[in-house]
Amino acid sequence: MSAAAAPAGRPPERLLLGSGPSPVPREVLDALAWPTIGHLDPAFAVIMDDLAELLRATFATANRATLPISGTGSAGMDALVGNFVEPGDRVVCGVHGLFGERMADQLARAGADVVRVEAEWGRAIDPARLIEAARGGLDAMVVVHGETSTGVAQPLDGLGQACREHDALFMIDCVTSLAGHPLALDDAGVDAAFSGTQKCLNVPPGLAPFTAGERALAKLRARSSPVRSWYFDLSLVLSYWQGDGGRAYHHTAPINLVYALREGLRLVAEEGLEARWARHRQAHEALRVALLGLGFERLAPEGEALWPLLAVRVPEDIDEAAVRRMLLLDHGIEVSGGLGPLAGRAWRIGVMGTGARRQPQRRLVSALAGALGVDPTEALAALDEAWGGVRASAQ
Ligand SMILES: *Cc1c(COP(=O)(O)O)cnc(C)c1O
Repeated sequence: MSAAAAPAGRPPERLLLGSGPSPVPREVLDALAWPTIGHLDPAFAVIMDDLAELLRATFATANRATLPISGTGSAGMDALVGNFVEPGDRVVCGVHGLFGERMADQLARAGADVVRVEAEWGRAIDPARLIEAARGGLDAMVVVHGETSTGVAQPLDGLGQACREHDALFMIDCVTSLAGHPLALDDAGVDAAFSGTQKCLNVPPGLAPFTAGERALAKLRARSSPVRSWYFDLSLVLSYWQGDGGRAYHHTAPINLVYALREGLRLVAEEGLEARWARHRQAHEALRVALLGLGFERLAPEGEALWPLLAVRVPEDIDEAAVRRMLLLDHGIEVSGGLGPLAGRAWRIGVMGTGARRQPQRRLVSALAGALGVDPTEALAALDEAWGGVRASAQ
């Protein structure tokens, strides 16, 4: 199958099976094209309230301060660090990939005393080591729950509890894990978290779902210095999003993206969070066995894998950049290359939302076998079997 030529000026059709953006369903694209209305229009307020409620359900939190920050996932990281970390704070930061590095960088820029707890790229950090690092006292701990650079899920066991014992905040990056990997923020004792729209939510990039609990808000109120960023100052943003006694203009909300995110979250609620996690797990496993048959072995060991992102080692005799290019240009399928120490050695394949289904995976496996010049039959059979046989069609 070759990619259809796009009409002049329009981007081509792509099957997005990389590290994000992920495929955007028709309902979400349609919502983007709804009429733009004013950010203070009462009809828009109804949509905002609806979105906040759906977002609470998706994060599994009761936090009232739950809203989308304007900007991509990294803006959520900026908002998290900018509001809840003060210069001189001792912050324990888990680093086991690119996004942990980015977090440590942001913390250092905010003037924090950063205590790095590291694991090699491709492994999770033993939670006991993070708890050990907290022994010396801390103001906050931050970890990346789903490390998209390596396809590893970070266990959160005991971390929220340890932070409470030290009167510190526990905060996470759940950009890739939200709605694709088991995560219940309140149960895990998470005080603040951010995500992104273009991973498992299947919404175009541009918003950062964000939530903060009472302990985090108390720290914000008690700050000795004002939040440096005016744009990301949560107190100001909340005066618009929560609107007690009338919503005050802060900055113009990205109206149509808000429609799209509400729609994406509605689709998550319709499927059910737990059913969605289970589907991502099944999709991850199906693709893992199919790719193993083609010689691509998963990086993460059993028990540490992140369902929404399958990172695999590329066999050494393959020119990985050339094959990825062939997948993109001849088949219209995007997969992502490795980052940092994994550049040229690994691929990162998205198993995100509508991408976590049998049909798109069949397309990828067929195209990849074709590009490698091998027969796809066995790999496809392994994929189908993991999806529950040839006849289960609702996937
Ligand atoms: C994608 C991603 C980000 C950054 O999001 P952008 O939308 O690219 O700004 C942060 N953390 C993780 C874990 C991610 O996967």
